[in-house]
Amino acid sequence: MPLIPMDAKPILTIKDMSIVFSSPDEADIEAVRQVDLTLSPGKTLALVGESGCGKSVTARSVLRLLDRNARIQRGSMLFAPGDEPPTDIAKLKADSLPLRAIRGREISMIFQEPMTSLSPVHTIGDQIDEMLILHERLKPKQARERTVALFDQVGIPGARERADSYPFQLSGGLRQRAMIAMALACAPKVLIADEPTTALDVTTQAQILDLLRQLQADFGMAMLFITHDLGVVAEIADEVAVMYLGDVVEQGSVFDVFAAPSHPYTQALMSSIPKMARKADRVRLSPIKGTVPAPRDRPEGCAFTSRCPHAFEPCATVRPERTALGNGHHARCHLLTRQPAEVVA
Ligand code: SF4
Repeated sequence: MPLIPMDAKPILTIKDMSIVFSSPDEADIEAVRQVDLTLSPGKTLALVGESGCGKSVTARSVLRLLDRNARIQRGSMLFAPGDEPPTDIAKLKADSLPLRAIRGREISMIFQEPMTSLSPVHTIGDQIDEMLILHERLKPKQARERTVALFDQVGIPGARERADSYPFQLSGGLRQRAMIAMALACAPKVLIADEPTTALDVTTQAQILDLLRQLQADFGMAMLFITHDLGVVAEIADEVAVMYLGDVVEQGSVFDVFAAPSHPYTQALMSSIPKMARKADRVRLSPIKGTVPAPRDRPEGCAFTSRCPHAFEPCATVRPERTALGNGHHARCHLLTRQPAEVVA
């Protein structure tokens, strides 16, 4: 297990990053607005929010896996794996050699549905062997030995025989384990996990979360974990950033955010988690009304205005500033700095 100093410096610092989508028929749409995120070795940052909040676009931007009509409009992504000056990933071309050296090797990704990421016409063993031959320059026999060891490490039973299976011959849980083995093949410094347990049943989900925690301790990697599930955040993360319609609306340590959620969206997400309680103490779950609007319909002010039960006069027109709440915890909401004079929702 690698020893990580308490004051280990961040390995990836995303600063003031905005991502826009362009279309020939309308103006550019800002899907992610001025996001600041920091990843440190051995720590997990969870990005949480409903579908359409910009979590996956943010995560994919780190590997520059954006759609052709998307681009990073401003900001930086400083990757600093060693003592050399950091590389600004935002400035690299998506198909450049320096980025290809980072992608899959230094920073890798686990996707939600392995069937769409693993090749259906190659065995899972061959797919990982190929990565090791390409990135680590191993001979085919050495690569297979490493693949089998990785399968053992991620808990695939009968690892040597399973290496000759095609993805469709495996259960969902085993496919996700194979995907994790592939992501870890080159011992990355940063692992991005994009809803890796969403498609799994709860038992397998718990096993995969345990596995990721264990592997993080073994490899000492930083993890960016994307999820819509605050229960999963509580299980796996050290820090959480809550996203809504492209904005990080609240961020802090999991302990602080869960103890004192300060943005109405975070509070609404928390109230929609089912809780165990005695019959007499049971309360109805309160879902968040409405749906996330399209980015082109984002109000000028606070992105959450159309669904917020506390919206008042400045919300629709004035974007709230980030308010520091102590200990690195912060949120963007007018309620933190002003008193509502007029309720509009
Ligand atoms: Fe609600 Fe206004 Fe706060 Fe936005 S700024 S979360 S609309 S109270």
